[in-house]
Amino acid sequence: MTSMTASHAADLVAALLFILSLAGLSQHRTSRAGVVHGIAGMALALAATVVVAAQSITAGAVALIVLAMVLGAALGLWRARRVEMTQMPELIAVLHSFVGLAAVLVGWNSYLEVEAHGTAQTRIGADLLGIHHAEVVIGIFIGAVTFTGSIVAFLKLSARIASRPLMLPGKNALNVGALGVFVALTVWFTISPGLPLMIAVTVLALALGWHLVASIGGGDMPVVVSMLNSYSGWAAAAAGFLLDNNLLIVTGALVGSSGAYLSYIMCKAMNRSFLSVIAGGFGIEAPSGRDEEQGEHREVRAEEAAEMLARASSVIITPGHGMAVAQAQHPVAELTRRLRERGVEVRFGVHPVAGRLPGHMNVLLAEAKVPYDIVLELDEINDDFADTSVVLVIGANDTVNPAAAEDPASPIAGMPVLRVWEAEHVIVFKRSMASGYAGVQNPLFFRENSSMLFGDAKLSVEEILHALGSNDDHGPAPGTRRATPVRG
Ligand code: NDP
Repeated sequence: MTSMTASHAADLVAALLFILSLAGLSQHRTSRAGVVHGIAGMALALAATVVVAAQSITAGAVALIVLAMVLGAALGLWRARRVEMTQMPELIAVLHSFVGLAAVLVGWNSYLEVEAHGTAQTRIGADLLGIHHAEVVIGIFIGAVTFTGSIVAFLKLSARIASRPLMLPGKNALNVGALGVFVALTVWFTISPGLPLMIAVTVLALALGWHLVASIGGGDMPVVVSMLNSYSGWAAAAAGFLLDNNLLIVTGALVGSSGAYLSYIMCKAMNRSFLSVIAGGFGIEAPSGRDEEQGEHREVRAEEAAEMLARASSVIITPGHGMAVAQAQHPVAELTRRLRERGVEVRFGVHPVAGRLPGHMNVLLAEAKVPYDIVLELDEINDDFADTSVVLVIGANDTVNPAAAEDPASPIAGMPVLRVWEAEHVIVFKRSMASGYAGVQNPLFFRENSSMLFGDAKLSVEEILHALGSNDDHGPAPGTRRATPVRG
């Protein structure tokens, strides 16, 4: 078998491993196998690339590639070991920006190579030069939009800049105008390529990527993250065309299409228009910015919360980003176990965009070994709140905000939320009256049946466990099944 045939075979096996990886990652039970398949596919792809490259380049260049791979692997391992679960979304945004930057560099390199050597010393036939020029600008455009878009997403997700949407006057016209100018520049470049046009396309795309993501509000960021995931795939596929690398094209298309599908699912979950979000919040008006407090709130102490729980017949726990920040999943799992032992029905209601990553809460609950069968999705549990004694809102805010259902002027209006306020009692675990990621105040905190349990969620749950332990020492919980309202 020639080395080319072997490399094509390796590409094919790697592509199949990536498909198996995606399939595995779609379910908890098979996700570990999915990760292993992905690692194996990537290792095979890298090995095949180096072996093929070694045939046509100098030993020094091979050494440079190996050095870059060792450095990259060491950096990746170092970051992966240190990153907190709560920093994963921002890390992913940074990784997307690398893919975008790589596509921009590949595009520039490809253009400069043809400029320097003509078509004679490259794989491109003179008759295909126009197509090559179009590939270059399209690759650079997608890459640059992904690059700056991902940097803004990183800054927003890590709270280095406010998550509020940037509302420049005529923002929709700016986006549509930039797209029109890009099409015109692509046609111009294909007919008569030149350095000033390359610079113009790059700068335009960098500015558009920045503006598109900056214009999207915090509540819509889940779609932005999955959309940038998709863009990074298309950027990789574009680089694959320029490098004549079939595996990169296939892998890019897999990432691009699965990211696009995930964005569609997220949009459906949030009742948002897919096109509106990918067009930088097209048609979304400036939010009314009502984040002032809306009345009196009640406070409850951990001991009182424990008493309410001990008397409850059914409890629903709705976790959110604060549970991830506090790393409260283990005490929450222990609380679940203890309540179930007492005969209380305990279930979890997980909102599709709770936390900062798709499936964020499911991962944390699985890590804490909460049984899968009591972890329900929004649609499966939303009608059950009305028959529930106590709801524990653990670090969730936007995903349980009644304004989404009741205030058409709210920036999160129309987003389906967990209707926790229909329960008999709601206990909200958080540290202050601060608003959630979307920057919208939550009327839930001021409802008659809501009580705030202030403090770090992990410490609060541990205090409840402690209080339940002391109750246990004094015998089983009272037979009554109704929790008493607590006034602060
Ligand atoms: P939110 O981000 O709306 O609110 C989290 C709450 O947790 C805060 O109000 C905060 O209040 C509280 N909190 C933070 N730290 C702690 C702690 N240590 N102990 C107790 N409470 C704490 O959470 P949700 O999960 O309800 O909503 C997710 C939001 O993130 C949505 O707007 C979603 O659109 C967005 N998003 C989701 C992504 C995804 O893919 N899932 C991606 C990007 C954005 P306080 O400071 O007072 O403690």
